[in-house]
Amino acid sequence: MAVYKTKVICVSEIAKGTFEVRLKRPKDFFFEAGQYIQLKIPKLKYADYKGNSRVFSLASSPNEKNFLSVAFRNTQSGYKKTLIEMDKGKKEVLIEGPYGFFTLPKKKDKNLVFIAGGIGITPFLSMIKLCHESKNGYKITLVYCNKDKESSAYLEELEKIAKENKNFSLICHFGRLNVDLIKKNLPNIKSDFCYIVGPPAMMDAAEQILLSVGVEKDNILKEGFVGY
Ligand SMILES: Cc1cc2nc3c(=O)[nH]c(=O)nc-3n(C[C@H](O)[C@H](O)[C@H](O)COP(=O)(O)OP(=O)(O)OC[C@H]3O[C@@H](n4cnc5c(N)ncnc54)[C@H](O)[C@@H]3O)c2cc1C
Repeated sequence: MAVYKTKVICVSEIAKGTFEVRLKRPKDFFFEAGQYIQLKIPKLKYADYKGNSRVFSLASSPNEKNFLSVAFRNTQSGYKKTLIEMDKGKKEVLIEGPYGFFTLPKKKDKNLVFIAGGIGITPFLSMIKLCHESKNGYKITLVYCNKDKESSAYLEELEKIAKENKNFSLICHFGRLNVDLIKKNLPNIKSDFCYIVGPPAMMDAAEQILLSVGVEKDNILKEGFVGY
């Protein structure tokens, strides 16, 4: 897999304890919405027993030619503390990828339901922005679960897209996903195709809920943010 040398453009706090890092997009770096990269920091400022690289889904759309963005909760790991401070100091990083098959389906015969737990929003944001910009006909409902409004990254941007695009609906929920929320808002979910992203425990719980309302296992695609 190709390795690209690039730079941090800026770092911003986009929600409570949640940071977005923008990287200069190498000219020859191409990816599909929903894919992830490995992001390596050549020299860590703060020690990290897990080393100097992590994988992150790309939150930017493939249409954004000048930058790539990733977002994460600040857990105070040495890696993340270093990355957040790269805004001010040394800016060079290495990216490897893109990786993964958590992408839009080839066929458009089913409505898509995206279920995001917290920072699991990142690959969905990339897909939603792409669909919005290119008006490619996918019909998407996002169920976005967070502890509270303050920790909901990209919420304003998603609300704006929902207002402008009749093919995109947003269900924003504060608290854990539950079966009543699905039954009330998505009565026809059995015939939809569902994607789930989040920490492994959330992802497994969400899958059980979908199975319990009759979604078939073959119609569920999952991406676990292992490490949270
Ligand atoms: C396909 C894929 C895509 C992913 N995409 C994303 C993404 O878009 N965004 C994202 O945020 N994550 C993503 N992840 C997860 C990511 O790779 C990391 O594993 C995750 O962000 C946790 O990394 P970390 O450095 O915070 O914690 P780790 O170093 O893995 O530590 C785990 C926990 O230990 C604690 N800890 C570690 N070091 C310290 C310390 N020095 N002091 C106090 N506590 C500490 C923290 O509570 C932390 O949550 C993805 C994973 C996969 C597999």
